[in-house]
Amino acid sequence: MVGEDNVELAEPMSEHTTFEIGGPADLYVMPDDVEELREVLRILDEAGEPRFLLGCGSDLLVSDAGYRGAIVSLTEGLVGVNAEGKELMCEAGVPLREASEMACELGLSGLEFACGIPGSIGGACFMNAGAYGGCMADVLKSVRVLLADGTTATLPVDELGLGYRKSRIADEGMVVLSATFRLEPADQDRIRETMDDLTQRREEKQPLDKPSAGSTFKRPEGHFAGKLISDAGLMGYQVGRAAVSKKHAGFVVNLGGATAADVHAVIEHVQHEVEHDFGVRLEPEVRFLG
Ligand SMILES: Cc1cc2nc3c(=O)[nH]c(=O)nc-3n(C[C@H](O)[C@H](O)[C@H](O)COP(=O)(O)OP(=O)(O)OC[C@H]3O[C@@H](n4cnc5c(N)ncnc54)[C@H](O)[C@@H]3O)c2cc1C
Repeated sequence: MVGEDNVELAEPMSEHTTFEIGGPADLYVMPDDVEELREVLRILDEAGEPRFLLGCGSDLLVSDAGYRGAIVSLTEGLVGVNAEGKELMCEAGVPLREASEMACELGLSGLEFACGIPGSIGGACFMNAGAYGGCMADVLKSVRVLLADGTTATLPVDELGLGYRKSRIADEGMVVLSATFRLEPADQDRIRETMDDLTQRREEKQPLDKPSAGSTFKRPEGHFAGKLISDAGLMGYQVGRAAVSKKHAGFVVNLGGATAADVHAVIEHVQHEVEHDFGVRLEPEVRFLG
């Protein structure tokens, strides 16, 4: 059962988010396995304690005041993987990049698109993460979830309601326990070449040397957020220590020591200016907590 070893008090969320921003969480719980996770969630829910599931924290802006409740982190304990034939099963806390690397080593194609996405399997299913023309919906066979009533179910991909950065998992508050991918055998060198090419393209275009949560805004229909922001003259726009990246206008970056309030101020200004100039309302892709 979860004990002192896997619970922290007043844990700074800046240490668990790629933005490197966020005040303390009252409780930070790291269940060792699926059974412990179920038990932890049952106890928290019965106590009426607010709780939030954390993957790699790569799509999150946690407030400076932190989170009043329990962060349940899956990347420490839910890290099992199993490969069988063309199928790869990963537990929710496995980094997507590791899954992509593993598929390559097994000579299985399909997860190349994911090699540069710094999220977990759970977070990636939650929002149907995707890049360079691929997304989770293309390669998932099924996802094992914990439902609100405490039961588990294995949902085939076509029952997950996956669309652009959305899913039934998010809409219905399901917890991803594991995902099974259906991949295709392919030449390992070709898979590696594709991954290297995508990594190079990312390094050339994205400000990977600075903390961020990736693309700050969703792609508005018929536009690219980065282009609208740069056309509005906002590249480099800065509040405190947060700024619109000078390398890729779609990213708000932490220049070192940024607060969540700085990032919010940049986001709101960008939304206002882009709407004023082009009549397009940018919706944040990054999720706010606390
Ligand atoms: C440099 C950089 C580049 C990026 N590039 C891309 C990209 O190309 N494409 C892309 O799609 N995204 C990209 N992202 C964003 C991010 O990596 C993805 O959205 C990723 O899927 C988030 O996963 P996570 O584990 O970090 O989720 P978190 O940030 O930890 O959580 C995000 C949401 O998922 C929920 N969640 C997490 N785990 C579970 C679970 N097991 N069950 C239910 N809900 C869960 C959380 O509660 C939260 O609401 C990028 C981010 C960075 C920093």
